[in-house]
Amino acid sequence: MNIHEYQGKEILKKYGVRVQEGLTADTAEEAVEAAKKLTEQTGTSWYVIKAQIHAGGRGKGGGVKLAKNLEQVKEIAGQILGMQLVTKQTGPEGRLVNKVLIAQDVYYPGESPTKEFYMSVVLDRTSGKNVIIYTTEGGVDIEEVADHHPEKILKEFIDPAVGLQGFQARKIAFGLGLSGDAFKEMVKFVTALYKAYDETDSAMFEINPVLKTSDNKILAVDAKVTLDDNALFRHKDFVALRDTNEEDPLEVEASESNLNYVKLDGNVGCMVNGAGLAMATMDIIKLSGGEPANFLDVGGGANAQTVEAGFRIILKDPNVKAILINIFGGIVRCDRVANGVVEAYKKIGDIRVPIIVRLQGTNAEEGARIIDESGLKVKSATLLKDAAARVKEVLATA
Ligand code: GDP
Ligand code: MN
Repeated sequence: MNIHEYQGKEILKKYGVRVQEGLTADTAEEAVEAAKKLTEQTGTSWYVIKAQIHAGGRGKGGGVKLAKNLEQVKEIAGQILGMQLVTKQTGPEGRLVNKVLIAQDVYYPGESPTKEFYMSVVLDRTSGKNVIIYTTEGGVDIEEVADHHPEKILKEFIDPAVGLQGFQARKIAFGLGLSGDAFKEMVKFVTALYKAYDETDSAMFEINPVLKTSDNKILAVDAKVTLDDNALFRHKDFVALRDTNEEDPLEVEASESNLNYVKLDGNVGCMVNGAGLAMATMDIIKLSGGEPANFLDVGGGANAQTVEAGFRIILKDPNVKAILINIFGGIVRCDRVANGVVEAYKKIGDIRVPIIVRLQGTNAEEGARIIDESGLKVKSATLLKDAAARVKEVLATA
C-alpha cells in the first residue's frame, strides 16, 4: 500500500528522522492558514506548495512550486488543487490533486552550499537482506543516474537479524562525501531512517532528495513510502492512511468483495480460482492470441456471490471482448460453480460479451451440462486446450 508524502513524513518524524516540515490543506484558504501556522512553528518566510498524489516526478510536472509570500501561497495552491497532474509515473491521463502540502522552504542560503542526495531502504529478495541504496546524485531521476552513472549508485546490505551497524551508517555518510557536523547528522539520519523502515515492516522508504542544508542539517525533503499490506494486521493505525482515490476503482471494488483482482490492459477478462491457475490461464489467453484484461483469483470457496461480484467487475472494463472462466473443482464442486455462473448471468442480464467456462475436477460433467443447457451465450469446455480454442474463435468474430 502506498501512502502520501505528508503521511510518510509523519512516520519518519516519529522515528526521529528530521524532515522538511509542512501542513496540509484542501483549499487555497486553508493553504494560507497553514502557511501562517508554519511560520509560527518554524520561522520560515518562503514556502513550497506540493501536490499530494501517489506518484513521483511532481516537480517536473508542475506539482511542486515555491511561494515567497501569502498571496503567492493562495494563488499557487489554487492552481495546483483541482489540477489533473501529469507526471512520468501517472500516465497521460494524470491524477486529480485533492490535497497540497504547504512546506517550509529549506533551500535557504547560508554558510555552505545545499546538496541533494538520494537514499532508499528496500528489501533485496536475492540476498534476503535489506539494502540502503544511496548516491550523491540526488534530486534528479534516479533511473537516469542508474542508466548513465551506475558506478555512482552505492549499496549497503543489512542483515535483518543483526540490524544496521554503526560502522555501516558511518560508511554511508563517508560515501556521500560528508565531514564535520553534516557527517554526524547523516549518521543519525540513516540510523533513524532504517529504524523507521524496519519497525513499520515497510516494503520501501525512498527519500529523494535527502537535503544537506546550508547550515549542515540533514533532512528528508520528500518521502515515498510503500507499506507492506501483509503486515497491516500488526499496524492497525496504518489502515486509515489508505487513499482509495489513488487506486484503480475496479481494484477498490474487488478488494471490498475480498477478490484478488489486478487490472491489466488486454481484452480477455478472466476469472479463476487459485493464483497459480490464474497465471496459467493468462498464459493460455496469450497463446490463443488474446491479451488478459485482468488477473482475478476468486479464491478456493467460489460461490454464486463471488462469481457475480467477479463478473460485474470484469464487465465494467470497457476493453473486455470475451470472458474466460477457469475453475478447478477441488474444494468447490463444478456443478455449484456452473449454477453460480448461470445465476449471476441471469441476474446481471445484458451481458454483451461471449463467455467461455472451463470446469475441471469434481462433478465437471454435471457442471458442463448445466452450462450447455442454460440457453445462455455461454460455451463450456473441459480441457484447457479447448477453452483456448474457444477464446480464439470468439476473438476472431469479436
Ligand atoms: P517529486 O518531484 O515528486 O519527487 O517531489 P519532491 O518533493 O522531490 O520535490 C521536487 C523538487 O522540488 C526537489 O527536488 C527540489 O529541487 C524542489 N524543492 C523541494 N522542496 C524545496 C524547498 O524547500 N525549496 C526549494 N527552493 N525547492 C524545493
Ligand atoms: Mn522526490
